[in-house]
Amino acid sequence: MPEELLRKKMASAMIRSTQVYEPAQNIGRFVARMTPPSGERKPAYWFVFDGDKLLIFSNDKAAAVPLAVDPSDLGIRPVRQHYLGYLEDEQLQQINCYGAEITPDTPLPDGMIADGLRQLYSRIGDLMFSLAGRAVQIVTWDRTHQYCGQCGTPTENLARERAKRCPACGLISYPRLSPAIIIAVVRHTEHGDRLLLARNHRFPPGRYSVIAGYVEPGETLEECARREVGEEVGIQIKNIRYFGSQPWPFPNSLMIGFTAEYDGGEFILEEEEIAEAGWFAADSLPGLPPKMSIARKMIDWFTTGSPNANSIVE
Ligand SMILES: [Zn+2]
Repeated sequence: MPEELLRKKMASAMIRSTQVYEPAQNIGRFVARMTPPSGERKPAYWFVFDGDKLLIFSNDKAAAVPLAVDPSDLGIRPVRQHYLGYLEDEQLQQINCYGAEITPDTPLPDGMIADGLRQLYSRIGDLMFSLAGRAVQIVTWDRTHQYCGQCGTPTENLARERAKRCPACGLISYPRLSPAIIIAVVRHTEHGDRLLLARNHRFPPGRYSVIAGYVEPGETLEECARREVGEEVGIQIKNIRYFGSQPWPFPNSLMIGFTAEYDGGEFILEEEEIAEAGWFAADSLPGLPPKMSIARKMIDWFTTGSPNANSIVE
């Protein structure tokens, strides 16, 4: 698409009467970068956060991440900002993306609201949700690593990688990521396959999900999968296979999904965490997690009987 046409499309996407911008429809590929391109400044997507809440234009019809050359055009003055990279459409036109943060007492411009990412998922879609998840983790890391964790000296950003270095003691800190396994355990019975689902005390009433837990230092992902299933419901598993993964920015998890088969044992529930657990047939499932989650993709994999787990996530 010629640049002039793209500009017109962006301009027409702004609904002036309602102050809602609609993103161009044909953009898809995101390319992560550290340094913004030099030269002419074009409208960029600004993922601006007030704490963990994303600022969006919103009315009763639409919701959208703001598109602007500079946040001051929106009436916002961020305390910190980071270039994230760019979105590229099929004609290789690029739209830059930034993460930014405002202080909690900043008044929001007319037409803008701040809301949590979980609540916004269904309104802004997969692509904007994933970029917002990337942005919030980077600005949060920036805010919480202003000083060295070892000696307290103010840190400095490195130029060529997303990292901070202490000029006094040399300690380097990277954005924090907490890997967690999530596992769909299937039991073959004479009445058909059954999926292990459990209810955590923290879940909303009626909701069940697959087993998940954080990886411990020194542990392989497979060891973690066996340990979590053993600790939470007391059974053994076998044939652990990779399913897919999903960044989960609540606050900084990377969910690594596996499937496995039941290999023996009876339920012994970890009572502090698990309220109930059971084996469920595909046609009699309880309340399930929302579609945005890899947990739901794994449950859908079970219910559709897909032989190729990896294709579900790709
Ligand atoms: Zn230091």
